[in-house]
Amino acid sequence: MVTTHNLGFPRIGARRELKRALEGYWQGKLSEAELSETGKALRERHWKTQQEAGLTYIPVGDFAWYDHMLNMTALLGAAPARFGFNSPALTLEQYFALARGTKAQGAMELTKWFDSNYHYLVPEFSADSEFQLGVDWLFREVEEAKSSGLKPNPVLIGPLTYLYLGKEKDPDFNRLDLLPKLLPVYREILSRLKAQGIEWVQVDEPVLALDLPAEWLAAFLPTYLELSTNAPSILLATYFASVARHAPMLKNLPVAGLHIDAVRAPEQVRVFLDSYPLEKILSIGAIDGRNIWKSDLDRALRILEPAYRELRERLWVGPSCSLLHVPIDLNLETALPPESKNWLAFAVQKLSEISVLAKCLAEGRSAVEEVLHAARQTQQQRRDSPFTHNQALRQKIAAFKTKGESGRPAFSKRQSAQKSRFKLPLFPTTTIGSFPQTAAIRKARADYKHGKISAEAYQGEMAREIRAAVAKQEAIGLDVLVHGEAERNDMVEYFGEQLQGFVITQNGWVQSYGSRCVKPPIIFGDVYRTKPMTVEWSKYAQSLTAKPMKGMLTGPVTILQWSFVRDDQPRSETAMQIALAIREEVCDLEAAGIGMIQIDEPALREGLPLRRAEWEDYLRWAVHAFQVAAGGVKDETQIHTHMCYSEFNAILPAIVALDADVITIETARSKLKLFEGLDKFPYPNEIGPGIYDIHSPRIPDVQEMVALLEKARAVIPADRLWVNPDCGLKTRGWEEVEIALTNMVEAAKIMRAG
Ligand code: GLN
Ligand code: ZN
Repeated sequence: MVTTHNLGFPRIGARRELKRALEGYWQGKLSEAELSETGKALRERHWKTQQEAGLTYIPVGDFAWYDHMLNMTALLGAAPARFGFNSPALTLEQYFALARGTKAQGAMELTKWFDSNYHYLVPEFSADSEFQLGVDWLFREVEEAKSSGLKPNPVLIGPLTYLYLGKEKDPDFNRLDLLPKLLPVYREILSRLKAQGIEWVQVDEPVLALDLPAEWLAAFLPTYLELSTNAPSILLATYFASVARHAPMLKNLPVAGLHIDAVRAPEQVRVFLDSYPLEKILSIGAIDGRNIWKSDLDRALRILEPAYRELRERLWVGPSCSLLHVPIDLNLETALPPESKNWLAFAVQKLSEISVLAKCLAEGRSAVEEVLHAARQTQQQRRDSPFTHNQALRQKIAAFKTKGESGRPAFSKRQSAQKSRFKLPLFPTTTIGSFPQTAAIRKARADYKHGKISAEAYQGEMAREIRAAVAKQEAIGLDVLVHGEAERNDMVEYFGEQLQGFVITQNGWVQSYGSRCVKPPIIFGDVYRTKPMTVEWSKYAQSLTAKPMKGMLTGPVTILQWSFVRDDQPRSETAMQIALAIREEVCDLEAAGIGMIQIDEPALREGLPLRRAEWEDYLRWAVHAFQVAAGGVKDETQIHTHMCYSEFNAILPAIVALDADVITIETARSKLKLFEGLDKFPYPNEIGPGIYDIHSPRIPDVQEMVALLEKARAVIPADRLWVNPDCGLKTRGWEEVEIALTNMVEAAKIMRAG
């Protein structure tokens, strides 16, 4: 028998039960007891699913009410002192206060979990941070699991990852100094788990995949020396990238086993097998926990079989990382085209792949011949499918590549053409694209989806929304208008629905943070455009006003980043296909008389690879994709782009290289950090630093906006400055938006006067 395990199961529920329960609880419609019941039922169901798939060990503690990092904070009694909670054992209400904020205290900061679309709550540290055993949820879940008759494998975030992913305010303080205070609590947790009869604990240290400073690396050995006594056997889990460079250190670590990711970094398996310590187990993550494709089982076996020959029962098989990042069950998809559905595997299907691999190792290939055969056929189908091999498209792209960059003339030339065309005042005002998604819009969309209203009726509703949005913008006095994006449920799905090469699932939800889930489209084949996607709406909106109406598109990198992407060709190639499709749309918009076209790239920054050595290559093709999308227009057509919610300063050169005529960029929310970067690396084209934090219900007044604009003018000449909010307004209500935008227009007038 070969031991199998899982590193974590999606907690949200196949029908987003947790989301519904959480939101019901927050709205006061569900009691705490009812919420607890939902959580318990989900855990039980997920354990049962994993048990039935035949896994040896099943993760416990991967469930979280909001976020697994926040659960660690609660377990370690490490709630930020600013909340003033006096007992380390938080109540559920206090736990949610950390995640969502209170009247007096802002929520803990949310940030992306490595290069995934999951967001965790960033621990806050200071020199006087204290740790002590907090909530007892993990221990209770272990008891629950034991009484369900399974072998629980509790999952903890390791102490070094926990500290490293946190933040401190005081620049003179190093959070690594907290380690001696933190370790005793980890020891206490581990000894309690041991007392509960636990054999193995999975301790995640994914920071090993990053460019970790030497002092942090040096802390691993002493840390695990301290944790390994009076504790269950520790499986130290790494994922998301190779940790081969740390192999000598990891092999020496006093832990009972290591987990490595053989999907993102198959080549590291060999490095670990070479003189792997006799007393340690090695868990090989052979099934992709980050993507939705059925596995190439032959490829997985080419890695696992030699490992099994060397390690025998010391080999464990699992997914590359937690399955948190994939949807739960493909069986709920009833509308996918059968050919592409047959290429997919969600969490439940991935569990059976793990079992098949283990069985194959233990009993030989003949024991699972049929499954292997089917998997081989799937791979063959993908290779041979006309969907993945559109020759005409591939030739077009090959020919295009040789033409190089965007081919637009210098910005100064474009700028003068655009200035004489649009004759905008100084400090032109605009918004980012979406307007409030009103109840009427949502109802029309739902009615149309469920066949309650006709296509014409739906279009009529959307047209009415657009008319209302245009009228409101004219009344407010904005200079450059948008149509409001009422017809878009989501800025990526909208294009995925219309482009070839995409499928949209019904239930393929993945947790983004807390109760928020996303449903990434799946790019299963070559991407191309067969018809205009936005032109009719933009034309209609432009016909309603004499002011410029911005066309509104999502950029190639963002579409790629927020989709599940093919694994049978480089991401850069898929990006190029999307770029060409967007380019065609841009040209059609121009031909339809749209003079300004915005190509949103909010996800440019988050596509950055985990290790710096790989940044340059990514930024090169990502920037190229944008330039291809934007580069087909005349000088007097103005290309805008928009970015938000990340730390941009590290990639300012790439942002400049996009060479958009205008960039609107989030600044208010991140407290003007952007200007520090612009000081050192000035943006040469026009720029609209956001002056209205749209993530807060707070309405900024005129003076406040003027103050921000003054700051902007100190680093950017007035004739290159735009005035706009941080991001789209779809999550806000019209009432507040009208006041805020009126203030914004007023602030621009004051700037023009002064
Ligand atoms: N145009 C989009 C909107 O306004 C941009 C959204 C985003 O940046 N995430 O909604
Ligand atoms: Zn935005």
